[in-house]
Amino acid sequence: MRSSMRKERNPSSKCIGRVLAGESVDPERSALMARVRDKNSKPETIVRRLVHALGYRFRLHRRNLPGTPDLVLSGLHSVIFVHGCFWHRHKGCSRTTTPKTRAAYWKDKFTANVERDALKERQLRALGWNVLIVWECETFDPNPLAARLAAFLSGRHFP
Ligand SMILES: [Zn+2]
Repeated sequence: MRSSMRKERNPSSKCIGRVLAGESVDPERSALMARVRDKNSKPETIVRRLVHALGYRFRLHRRNLPGTPDLVLSGLHSVIFVHGCFWHRHKGCSRTTTPKTRAAYWKDKFTANVERDALKERQLRALGWNVLIVWECETFDPNPLAARLAAFLSGRHFP
Protein backbone atom coordinates (compact mmCIF):
# COMPACT_ATOMS: atom_id res chain seq x y z
CA MET A 1 0.00 0.00 0.00
CA ARG A 2 3.05 2.25 0.11
CA SER A 3 3.56 2.09 -3.61
CA SER A 4 1.73 5.29 -4.38
CA MET A 5 2.36 6.31 -7.95
CA ARG A 6 0.32 9.47 -8.20
CA LYS A 7 1.36 11.13 -11.39
CA GLU A 8 0.07 14.56 -10.61
CA ARG A 9 1.86 17.04 -8.46
CA ASN A 10 0.00 18.46 -5.54
CA PRO A 11 -0.77 22.06 -6.44
CA SER A 12 -2.43 22.64 -3.07
CA SER A 13 0.55 22.06 -0.80
CA LYS A 14 0.81 25.80 -0.24
CA CYS A 15 -2.80 25.84 0.88
CA ILE A 16 -2.27 23.00 3.36
CA GLY A 17 0.67 24.90 4.85
CA ARG A 18 -1.41 27.99 5.36
CA VAL A 19 -4.25 26.11 7.03
CA LEU A 20 -1.84 24.19 9.24
CA ALA A 21 -0.46 27.48 10.53
CA GLY A 22 -3.87 29.00 11.18
CA GLU A 23 -5.96 26.22 12.72
CA SER A 24 -5.63 23.82 15.55
CA VAL A 25 -8.35 21.22 14.96
CA ASP A 26 -7.53 18.52 12.42
CA PRO A 27 -6.25 21.08 9.91
CA GLU A 28 -5.17 18.60 7.31
CA ARG A 29 -8.63 17.14 7.10
CA SER A 30 -10.39 20.49 7.01
CA ALA A 31 -8.06 21.64 4.24
CA LEU A 32 -8.83 18.49 2.37
CA MET A 33 -12.56 18.84 2.77
CA ALA A 34 -12.36 22.48 1.67
CA ARG A 35 -10.66 21.38 -1.49
CA VAL A 36 -13.10 18.52 -1.97
CA ARG A 37 -15.95 21.00 -1.78
CA ASP A 38 -14.40 23.27 -4.39
CA LYS A 39 -17.09 23.47 -7.03
CA ASN A 40 -14.48 23.82 -9.73
CA SER A 41 -12.94 20.45 -8.96
CA LYS A 42 -13.18 17.87 -11.66
CA PRO A 43 -15.17 14.78 -10.64
CA GLU A 44 -12.14 12.50 -10.92
CA THR A 45 -10.08 14.81 -8.74
CA ILE A 46 -12.78 14.77 -6.08
CA VAL A 47 -12.86 10.97 -6.07
CA ARG A 48 -9.07 10.80 -5.81
CA ARG A 49 -9.07 13.16 -2.85
CA LEU A 50 -11.79 11.21 -1.07
CA VAL A 51 -10.10 7.85 -1.62
CA HIS A 52 -6.81 9.33 -0.46
CA ALA A 53 -8.51 10.83 2.62
CA LEU A 54 -9.91 7.40 3.44
CA GLY A 55 -6.31 6.22 3.68
CA TYR A 56 -6.01 4.28 0.45
CA ARG A 57 -3.25 4.59 -2.10
CA PHE A 58 -3.82 4.01 -5.76
CA ARG A 59 -2.44 4.23 -9.23
CA LEU A 60 -3.96 6.21 -12.03
CA HIS A 61 -5.02 5.15 -15.50
CA ARG A 62 -3.27 1.81 -15.75
CA ARG A 63 -3.36 1.26 -19.47
CA ASN A 64 -2.68 -2.43 -19.18
CA LEU A 65 -6.17 -2.94 -17.74
CA PRO A 66 -9.39 -3.02 -19.78
CA GLY A 67 -10.92 0.43 -20.06
CA THR A 68 -7.94 2.17 -18.39
CA PRO A 69 -9.62 2.59 -15.00
CA ASP A 70 -9.31 6.02 -13.41
CA LEU A 71 -8.12 4.63 -10.06
CA VAL A 72 -6.49 1.25 -9.52
CA LEU A 73 -6.03 -0.24 -6.05
CA SER A 74 -3.98 -3.28 -6.89
CA GLY A 75 -3.76 -4.72 -3.39
CA LEU A 76 -7.52 -4.70 -3.08
CA HIS A 77 -8.06 -5.94 -6.63
CA SER A 78 -10.32 -2.96 -7.05
CA VAL A 79 -10.74 -0.34 -9.72
CA ILE A 80 -12.82 2.81 -9.84
CA PHE A 81 -14.17 4.58 -12.88
CA VAL A 82 -15.43 8.13 -12.69
CA HIS A 83 -17.98 8.54 -15.45
CA GLY A 84 -19.43 11.72 -16.88
CA CYS A 85 -23.21 11.42 -16.77
CA PHE A 86 -23.73 12.76 -20.29
CA TRP A 87 -21.17 10.70 -22.20
CA HIS A 88 -21.65 7.49 -20.26
CA ARG A 89 -25.46 7.85 -20.01
CA HIS A 90 -26.21 7.79 -16.32
CA LYS A 91 -29.71 6.31 -16.20
CA GLY A 92 -32.38 8.58 -14.78
CA CYS A 93 -29.95 11.47 -14.34
CA SER A 94 -30.94 15.00 -15.33
CA ARG A 95 -27.54 15.47 -16.93
CA THR A 96 -28.17 12.61 -19.33
CA THR A 97 -29.62 14.82 -22.02
CA THR A 98 -29.68 14.17 -25.75
CA PRO A 99 -28.90 16.92 -28.24
CA LYS A 100 -31.83 17.80 -30.49
CA THR A 101 -29.82 17.98 -33.67
CA ARG A 102 -28.15 14.99 -35.32
CA ALA A 103 -30.13 12.65 -33.12
CA ALA A 104 -29.06 9.51 -35.00
CA TYR A 105 -25.40 10.42 -34.65
CA TRP A 106 -25.73 10.92 -30.90
CA LYS A 107 -27.78 7.77 -30.43
CA ASP A 108 -25.08 5.68 -32.13
CA LYS A 109 -22.33 7.38 -30.19
CA PHE A 110 -24.07 6.93 -26.84
CA THR A 111 -24.93 3.31 -27.58
CA ALA A 112 -21.28 2.62 -28.42
CA ASN A 113 -20.13 4.30 -25.21
CA VAL A 114 -22.51 2.29 -23.04
CA GLU A 115 -21.65 -0.99 -24.77
CA ARG A 116 -17.92 -0.31 -24.44
CA ASP A 117 -18.29 0.50 -20.73
CA ALA A 118 -20.23 -2.71 -20.14
CA LEU A 119 -17.65 -4.76 -22.05
CA LYS A 120 -14.70 -3.31 -20.14
CA GLU A 121 -16.47 -3.91 -16.84
CA ARG A 122 -17.16 -7.55 -17.76
CA GLN A 123 -13.53 -8.01 -18.80
CA LEU A 124 -12.26 -6.55 -15.54
CA ARG A 125 -14.58 -8.70 -13.43
CA ALA A 126 -13.49 -11.76 -15.41
CA LEU A 127 -9.90 -10.90 -14.46
CA GLY A 128 -10.91 -10.82 -10.81
CA TRP A 129 -11.20 -7.09 -10.28
CA ASN A 130 -13.89 -5.45 -8.21
CA VAL A 131 -15.35 -2.56 -10.17
CA LEU A 132 -16.99 0.59 -8.87
CA ILE A 133 -18.58 3.17 -11.14
CA VAL A 134 -18.81 6.64 -9.67
CA TRP A 135 -21.04 9.06 -11.53
CA GLU A 136 -20.10 12.68 -12.02
CA CYS A 137 -23.28 13.86 -10.26
CA GLU A 138 -22.36 11.84 -7.15
CA THR A 139 -19.27 14.00 -6.70
CA PHE A 140 -21.42 17.07 -6.05
CA ASP A 141 -22.18 15.71 -2.58
CA PRO A 142 -18.94 14.30 -1.14
CA ASN A 143 -20.29 12.85 2.11
CA PRO A 144 -22.53 10.09 0.74
CA LEU A 145 -19.92 9.44 -1.92
CA ALA A 146 -17.21 9.02 0.71
CA ALA A 147 -19.45 6.49 2.48
CA ARG A 148 -19.99 4.60 -0.75
CA LEU A 149 -16.26 4.56 -1.52
CA ALA A 150 -15.45 3.41 2.00
CA ALA A 151 -17.96 0.57 1.76
CA PHE A 152 -16.61 -0.53 -1.59
CA LEU A 153 -12.95 -0.38 -0.59
CA SER A 154 -13.48 -2.09 2.74
CA GLY A 155 -15.10 -4.99 0.93
CA ARG A 156 -18.37 -4.72 2.81
CA HIS A 157 -20.26 -4.12 -0.37
CA PHE A 158 -19.49 -4.73 -4.00
CA PRO A 159 -22.11 -3.09 -6.16
ZN1 LIG B 1 -25.66 11.55 -13.02
